Amino acid sequence: MNFRQKLAQFMYGRNGMDAFGRFLLLLAVVLMLLSTLFARVALLSGLFLALEWAALICCIWRTFSRDIVKRQQENAAYYEKSRAFRTWCRSLRDRWQQRRDYKFFRCPSCHALLRVPRGRGMLELTCRKCGNRFKRRS
Ligand SMILES: [Zn+2]
Repeated sequence: MNFRQKLAQFMYGRNGMDAFGRFLLLLAVVLMLLSTLFARVALLSGLFLALEWAALICCIWRTFSRDIVKRQQENAAYYEKSRAFRTWCRSLRDRWQQRRDYKFFRCPSCHALLRVPRGRGMLELTCRKCGNRFKRRS
């Protein structure tokens, strides 16, 4: 039996790495960088280092945990709590990809995002959410 088979056998029935695990790993890396950045401030550096280790240990423990149902519940809770942030990131990415063809405006009254094609001159825009009308150059 080679190493890969042994590892697969060892990981059988265990949670493995999931989205929450990757988040904890990223958090640990960020905390490590913060700890290095504030190396001159012993208290702050120590705090970041302790939190980094806590995140790392939690990540490793979750990866090898056999209580898969509980780990899946934690992962679902992570997805639920991070939804707004992930949606915002996706919106930012979409706007960046479409920046050559469209212009984006916020409605002055309800702050909803409006997308209009570029290069159409002065337009009167109607907000789909609240019906507010305003003029912008596209
Ligand atoms: Zn509006």
